[in-house]
Amino acid sequence: MDLVGVTQITVPRTRGDVVLSAGVRPLGGGSWLFSEQQPEVTGLVDLMALGWEPVVETPDTLTIAATCLIRELTEIPLRPEWPAQELVRLCADSLLMSFKIWNMATVGGNVCTALPAGAMTSLLAGLDAVAVIWDAEGGERRAAVAEFVTGVRTTAMGPEEFLRSIEIPVKSLEARVAFRRIALSNLGRSGTLVIGRQDADGAVVVTVTASTPAPVQLRFDGVPTAAELAHALDGIDVWYDDPHGAPDWREAVSRLYAEQIRVELSAGGAA
Ligand SMILES: Cc1cc2nc3c(=O)[nH]c(=O)nc-3n(C[C@H](O)[C@H](O)[C@H](O)COP(=O)(O)OP(=O)(O)OC[C@H]3O[C@@H](n4cnc5c(N)ncnc54)[C@H](O)[C@@H]3O)c2cc1C
Repeated sequence: MDLVGVTQITVPRTRGDVVLSAGVRPLGGGSWLFSEQQPEVTGLVDLMALGWEPVVETPDTLTIAATCLIRELTEIPLRPEWPAQELVRLCADSLLMSFKIWNMATVGGNVCTALPAGAMTSLLAGLDAVAVIWDAEGGERRAAVAEFVTGVRTTAMGPEEFLRSIEIPVKSLEARVAFRRIALSNLGRSGTLVIGRQDADGAVVVTVTASTPAPVQLRFDGVPTAAELAHALDGIDVWYDDPHGAPDWREAVSRLYAEQIRVELSAGGAA
């Protein structure tokens, strides 16, 4: 779709060229930006031109550039020592993706779009990944992805900030995980997506997305009892309501899946 309000597209050479405002927005793959009218957008800054390395590995962290394509993330060869890597494909397949989105959409664009059903948000929140946020002035700060997405189409970024990368702790990739997801129709947008993760120290985190406006994480020192898990779920006070699922249905399936995940993790089974 033509964005008729856009009068300027900047092709930056350095981060200093990424000068943003309420009307001048970062451009990732463009699959969301060009999918509907954006009356408030007057300019775009094409982050793809910065040529960030899509994936950089250190002993403790797998760093994903915001401009890494979702497809590229799925192409990282599977490693037996990273059982949680399986979540990458499961979450990527949770997107209602056309050929165009599969080949254009970026990991950062998905997170920054801040849809409750943002599948990369589900993945990265479930792995306790950290968002690295930049501004043009050289500022850098970090926020847990689970807190970076603050609500429906809202993030913790200010208008002059942009997402540089996302850091996945290697210890999260080494964790045991369990995954459940449902949509009202076969290829529909997620109604709920629940990820359970048990780290090497036994700690368990259950991350609920798609059924809530923003990610919700429930943390336990070990595998909780059914009652402890149910009590923690009682603390979720808002269940999302849109054409992809009614709140009572989303709550019911989220509770069911969280309990299934609890049983799976307590049985020591694979994801
Ligand atoms: C028909 C359709 C169905 C969809 N269904 C789903 C679905 O079921 N689940 C799902 O998760 N998504 C869904 N999406 C959204 C899809 O995930 C997005 O189109 C895609 O992930 C956005 O990535 P992009 O790189 O193309 O972002 P863009 O379109 O380039 O940008 C999206 C938004 O993020 C901002 N942005 C991009 N990169 C950055 C950055 N580095 N820093 C700060 N802000 C940034 C842009 O300014 C813009 O506001 C759907 C989209 C369409 C068109």
